[in-house]
Amino acid sequence: MERQVYVSDSGRELAREVLIHGPISRAELGRRLGLSPASLTRLSKPFLDRGWFIEAAETVQGATGRPAKPLDVQVDSRRFVGVKVTGESAFGVITDLRAGALGQGERSLAGHDVDAVVEAVSDLVAGLRDGDGVEVSGLGVSIGGNVADQRVVTRAPFLGWRNIALADRLERELGIPVTVENDVTALTTAEQWFGAVRGRPAFAVVTIGAGVGYGLVMHDRVVTTADSGLGLGGHLPLDPNGPLCLDGHRGCSTAMLAIPSITLQLGIALGREVDYDEVLRLAESGHPLAVSVTSAAGRALGRMMATIANIAMVDTIVLSGEGVALWNAIGDLALATLAEDRDPDATPVEINVDDAGFVSWARGAAAVAIQAALGRLRLPA
Ligand SMILES: [Zn+2]
Repeated sequence: MERQVYVSDSGRELAREVLIHGPISRAELGRRLGLSPASLTRLSKPFLDRGWFIEAAETVQGATGRPAKPLDVQVDSRRFVGVKVTGESAFGVITDLRAGALGQGERSLAGHDVDAVVEAVSDLVAGLRDGDGVEVSGLGVSIGGNVADQRVVTRAPFLGWRNIALADRLERELGIPVTVENDVTALTTAEQWFGAVRGRPAFAVVTIGAGVGYGLVMHDRVVTTADSGLGLGGHLPLDPNGPLCLDGHRGCSTAMLAIPSITLQLGIALGREVDYDEVLRLAESGHPLAVSVTSAAGRALGRMMATIANIAMVDTIVLSGEGVALWNAIGDLALATLAEDRDPDATPVEINVDDAGFVSWARGAAAVAIQAALGRLRLPA
């Protein structure tokens, strides 16, 4: 048996940098990590030997014209599965080492008890594994609620759960390492490591869907607290004339932007049930009641983004979640409101729309599994 050692902290930092920024030149890596060329060669050798890293094609670098082989991760060398669990179903993707989705699937939940959820997730993972020849190195599960130590769901209102050791249960069932995380924290992690804004030291994330989520990256780290799973960003006051949320806030972000609130508002006005797609279709075709509902949502979203940019002092916001198609209808209005609520001399806020919908949530779950795998990484001594 080959001798195994844990990778040092600097080794893991190196892997993280190459994962996020690769292909990246050795000179740039040395600058970012404060490492000499000799240390870099020593630290990267086990990753190259083990097939985690590859040397990209030679490029000629700088004025000296010396050839350089940038480092990159072998993105196809590992597989991960990410699963988002909601009150209705488990939705999952199988991904490569950069959380790129290679396949997806969904299983309905037969109930909200732990056995039903474990069965749905296990069946989903088995299905995703079958369609792919490469061994799965880890499973990430994301859930709307609070999670302790990425293992125990301490509170999940959608499922009525308190203190469920979900990672232990799933590891026994599946025989692979399992990481559990709050869904917005997981999605924010995926944007930080693998999204369009990857590598930026500070940005915010707003998700629109069954609820409204808020995530923050500051000083290169995803900000989390014991209250992260409560969804506090979902109750920002945005419109004094808006409808009520379930907590009794008038015009908070959930009341203005969550899918159930938007469909109910138009449903009440029309006197019949409507689904989200129909609301967006009617709004795009200029239906006055639908336009009234979505315009109020657009102004609220602009106000929310301005508040985030002003208070958290970020100039980049990623918009994501399964309800993000709203942006097509109200993006311009939201941007105009955002500008009104900013100082005219303030840096313009860059809005990045991640329109992958449910796949974004599942990729988030995969991203935390990839992070965890990096922490467990063992390489030959
Ligand atoms: Zn509220």
